[in-house]
Amino acid sequence: MRISGIETFVAKAPTGANSFWSSQAVFPERVSLLVKITTDDGIVGWGEGGQYGPAEPVASAIVDVLGPRLIGEAADAPVRIWEQNYAFSRDFGRTGTYIEAMSGIDIALWDIWGKSLGRPAYHLMGGAFRDRVMAYGTGCYYPEDFRDTDAMMQALAEEVSAYAAAGVTAIKIKLGLLPVEQDAARVKLIRETVGPRVKLMADANHAYHSATAMRMGRVLEQFGILWFEEPVPPEDHDGYRRLRAALDVPIAGGECEFTRFGFREFIGGGCVDIVQPDVCACGGLSEWQKVVSLATQHGVLAVPHVWGSGVGVAAALQAIAVVPPTPHTALPVDLQNEPMLEFDRTYNPLRDGILERNFELKDGAMAIPDGPGLGISVKEEALMAHVTQKRSVGAG
Ligand code: CA
Repeated sequence: MRISGIETFVAKAPTGANSFWSSQAVFPERVSLLVKITTDDGIVGWGEGGQYGPAEPVASAIVDVLGPRLIGEAADAPVRIWEQNYAFSRDFGRTGTYIEAMSGIDIALWDIWGKSLGRPAYHLMGGAFRDRVMAYGTGCYYPEDFRDTDAMMQALAEEVSAYAAAGVTAIKIKLGLLPVEQDAARVKLIRETVGPRVKLMADANHAYHSATAMRMGRVLEQFGILWFEEPVPPEDHDGYRRLRAALDVPIAGGECEFTRFGFREFIGGGCVDIVQPDVCACGGLSEWQKVVSLATQHGVLAVPHVWGSGVGVAAALQAIAVVPPTPHTALPVDLQNEPMLEFDRTYNPLRDGILERNFELKDGAMAIPDGPGLGISVKEEALMAHVTQKRSVGAG
């Protein structure tokens, strides 16, 4: 079984009236880079490369640089292919675009290998610890008109009420666009709206330096927030360590980190209690396993960052399946030693519209697909409605 063709799809969905802000930027569109690999015996595998950065450079890295070298290679050897790609691109691509490209290729190869054997990818990774995972909803971004404080606060209360009514038992809220005092009022409103039993986490998207993050962290402690995500820029390991030593709220991060080598410094350097690699960016399922190994060696729980298309969600579910309870107990508890699924609740037709069967929560939990490979079928026609660039190498 050899790789015969590789196709890339840059898919874009304008958010229109649903646009929103994080601390870093407004999101006028959702973007995904999907990879489709075909083998000489007709098996097709899908992957996603990258998370919210530009997709065209990732497509170019696949089609112009890495892909031509892979035609004719074994399609059921993702770890070896990963190491070959990394060795080839080490001098110019140890983070960013090239690792995102390698992630998409890697996920597609795990999908192919699983399909060739009729087994889910998690089986090939050594077996699943769970067949379902509790999900947390990511939302509570800032609206386009965040300067209208009254309207923003009312919309926020309505948003979290809708999550609670939909059976979501955990919500992650956004911080860092506004001054600490104003964001503290948002946190207070959310806690008062959902009550004490709904789990809340908070994500600053690296908005603060460590002194401001300390002030925000003290606020989060008052409202029982279960983690403080990306409080400081990803390069500021000293800032991470300072916060982790001083605050009671657990510190999380890692979506901007790449490969086992990046996570060796981030996890091994004592930066986080909860590490959040993005499978579509950190190096795919092959590298995910190595990062999980690092995390368990340091008593850190791995909870993947998930913000991509339906293919990215599917890859994350396979990844979550193989995370051991950290540490083991007879009855794992969410976020104490059991991972959760990040279930992005913002507008994204690439997440909700391109699979034969959409991902849906049941009692706040997501079943982990147990079909071959990633356990999903991509509706290519539905995907093509969003595709702005399609490229290929080899015979598709
Ligand atoms: Ca985040």
